Amino acid sequence: MSASLHDVVILGSGPAGLTAAIYTARASLEPLVLEGEPSSTGDQPGGQLMLTTEVENFPGFPEGIMGPELMMNFKAQAERFGAKMETVKASRVDFSERPFKIWVGDPEAAEPTYLARTVIVSTGAEALMLGLPKETELTGHGVSTCATCDGFFFRDHDIAVIGGGDSAIEEATFLTKFAKSVTIVHRRDELRASKIMQDRAFANPKINFQWDSHVVELKGDTKLEGLVIENTKTGERSDLTVTGMFVAIGHRPNTSIFKGQLAMKDSGYLITEHPSSRTNVEGVFACGDVQDDYYRQAITAAGSGCTAAIDAERYLEEHGVEVDHPDWRPEERQG
Ligand code: NAP
Repeated sequence: MSASLHDVVILGSGPAGLTAAIYTARASLEPLVLEGEPSSTGDQPGGQLMLTTEVENFPGFPEGIMGPELMMNFKAQAERFGAKMETVKASRVDFSERPFKIWVGDPEAAEPTYLARTVIVSTGAEALMLGLPKETELTGHGVSTCATCDGFFFRDHDIAVIGGGDSAIEEATFLTKFAKSVTIVHRRDELRASKIMQDRAFANPKINFQWDSHVVELKGDTKLEGLVIENTKTGERSDLTVTGMFVAIGHRPNTSIFKGQLAMKDSGYLITEHPSSRTNVEGVFACGDVQDDYYRQAITAAGSGCTAAIDAERYLEEHGVEVDHPDWRPEERQG
């Protein structure tokens, strides 16, 4: 079967990808969204919000909304305007010639699965986890990877933050606004975080440190009830009674299939020509967490998805593709 040709193929279906899908679908470009497929390594159609419970900081929902429901709404909105979803994941891309080639399944197959005039990369990033039993089940029930998102739910709780980098210190400091106490559990006896962040944490009376320690067990079945900590030097184990655990040991952008094709930082995050979503390959755009190692919010991802859609629409129009009522052209805006 020969590969089908699409004006827009969107890789990933978090807030960035689905916002790009809503915009390009409204421009009658019938985007194809490869929404990903669930995997044991935490891949998730719908992105990281599928792993959260209540989302209170996404504008437009004064009472909050559950993360999975929000993503179902994004998807339904994109489909309403003609976006096509495939529950598959790209296994290989070739951006060296046009149309761009995308493989699903066997990456060694001679023929690609899809051809695309433009590609919007929104494959996201995943928060690194400790890999302990029950960690996934308790995510959203005491375990979190985002203090900005979930800190509010831990008012007057005793909580732990795992890690010793800038993220851990930033999360811990932020969490002291709500928590009764915050214990930073770090595997060494000195922090990796910048001096200024360290000084801020040391001066904060709500922050305690558990040095040379790592978490070996999560207690609780339906919600987190405590941690078992092991001293890395003595092997001694102790209980830490907390009802929240924020894991802040870094993120990994999902960019392995773009290595050697798209410009990226040493950390793997894609480089875009800010403030546009253009990558180093003309016609390939990137949005969301895959190119954002700083803000990492659903709303900033959605905003950048809009940018990528408009960049793709402009690119297509400049290359002779008819684009209907693009949202970026005010005189033709509908409604
Ligand atoms: P990071 O700098 O890589 O730090 C990760 C921390 O987690 C390290 O302390 C590491 O311990 C620990 N860790 C890693 N794997 C672990 C495991 N399996 N178990 C227990 N602990 C583990 O990551 P990050 O803090 O997310 O920061 C990423 C980048 O963003 C950095 O460049 C950072 O400066 C930047 N950032 C900046 C700001 C800011 O300036 N406001 C805020 C956030 C992030 P070791 O120290 O022993 O390796």
